[in-house]
Amino acid sequence: MIKVKNLIGGKFVLPAECFDDISPLDSSVIAQIPRTRDVSAAVKAAALAQPSWGGLSISERCDWLDKIADSLELKIEELAQLESLDTGKPHEVALNVDAERSINNFRFFANFGRSMKEETFEMKDATNYILRKPIGIVGLISPWNLPLYLLSWKIAPALLMGNSVIAKPSEITPLTAYFLGQVCTEIGLPNGVLNIIHGYGPEIGHAIVEHPEIKAISFTGGTATGKIVAATAAPMFKKLSLELGGKNASIVLDDADLDIAVPGVLRASFLNSGQICLCGSRVLIHSSIYDEFMSRYLSELQSFEIGPVINEAHRSKILSYIELAKEEGGEILAGGKVPDRPGAWLEPTVVAGLSHESRTATEEIFGPMVTIHRFDSDEEAIEIANCTDYGLAGSVWSKNRGRQIAEKIDSGMVWVNTWLHRDLRVPFGGVKDSGVGREGGMWSIGFFSEAVNICVIED
Ligand code: NAD
Repeated sequence: MIKVKNLIGGKFVLPAECFDDISPLDSSVIAQIPRTRDVSAAVKAAALAQPSWGGLSISERCDWLDKIADSLELKIEELAQLESLDTGKPHEVALNVDAERSINNFRFFANFGRSMKEETFEMKDATNYILRKPIGIVGLISPWNLPLYLLSWKIAPALLMGNSVIAKPSEITPLTAYFLGQVCTEIGLPNGVLNIIHGYGPEIGHAIVEHPEIKAISFTGGTATGKIVAATAAPMFKKLSLELGGKNASIVLDDADLDIAVPGVLRASFLNSGQICLCGSRVLIHSSIYDEFMSRYLSELQSFEIGPVINEAHRSKILSYIELAKEEGGEILAGGKVPDRPGAWLEPTVVAGLSHESRTATEEIFGPMVTIHRFDSDEEAIEIANCTDYGLAGSVWSKNRGRQIAEKIDSGMVWVNTWLHRDLRVPFGGVKDSGVGREGGMWSIGFFSEAVNICVIED
């Protein structure tokens, strides 16, 4: 049994109460998690550490990020095993998606920091230069679906820009954040620069968001929680980044190469049991290729490996959407049932015949469940893709008209003939109810720093 502890000021400490971390694989208790309610000790430690951390040069902080990456890399197998244990995802996904990317987040921002050039703007009689100061103490809150992947995506740029950090992973998947804390103390990261505290969102998450000394909040999670976070932080004029839910469309045009589109759309549907904000949970197919696409999609689905969903409560939510889909007139083409085994398993589920405006087809389900929709023209595909309140991502599968359609999708990211193909320099984020702000490359640097213009006239 793992006993997760808070990392505050370089020390591992426990609050009075703990609660259980349950395995999605078989519902056994795998760890004890601290139920932290008070953020003040972490704020104190972060405040103490920030001036000297912020006083290091960018290149010294880049070296620290590299050290973290090196140390995680040596332990990549352990990291993947912990992520797989906590989330139930197949080891191959935990290793090649989660662990790999978590390490790369530190590596990427170390290299990015070294490559940053001074930003100057010359006038006839003066020079402007941009100083990027740390914000101070920043609060980072992340969800359970890609635990360390998403948390390290915030920690690395926050540290790079000289902030001290209070990070709160999801209470459902705390193990790899705890592991990161252990790695950072082993390599001697200065005390209080990275504080990692655990507990329930409405308790310690809320305490972070409402603490006046925490000057910026970077939040990734559900849209409903994002509204609470925004309402709490906005009156204090905190900097706020919100990466929220999605209901993304995978659009397969009549000229798609099905050898690429079928496995690509399937992966977008069910990778990580459909529990990635970028997953294509609505599959839009041109009528002329519908039968061939669906027969190949359903056949390839038979051999697609997925793990359980995150827990039984989440499975109940997905099952309620399967019931809703039937009530709304949907036809279950595959899955829909709970396998007879312990844990939070659920068959990957494909539903056809629903209106694209139905609740099932417009609300975020965040599980291994997709709805299938036919269309007859590019205009109709675009209308269906844009009909939800969300606007995070999407994909278009076409030999000739991919870009044309991609530009008309109301979302922050669109892939053409691929999905989840990531260059960490590009902007990542959503429009509409999918969030506010962008992460990645210069966008993360901008968020985690205060840009100050200094205008100089010298002779
Ligand atoms: P969630 O909103 O329930 O929780 C996210 C985090 O917020 C957790 O750490 C939680 O403890 C904390 N939290 C909960 N209530 C809080 C409060 N009142 N104040 C402060 N913090 C609080 O989301 P989840 O169920 O963990 O994750 C699934 C959701 O995340 C889905 O909607 C998914 O689309 C979204 N997501 C978005 C992205 C993105 O980049 N846009 C990436 C991954 C997941």
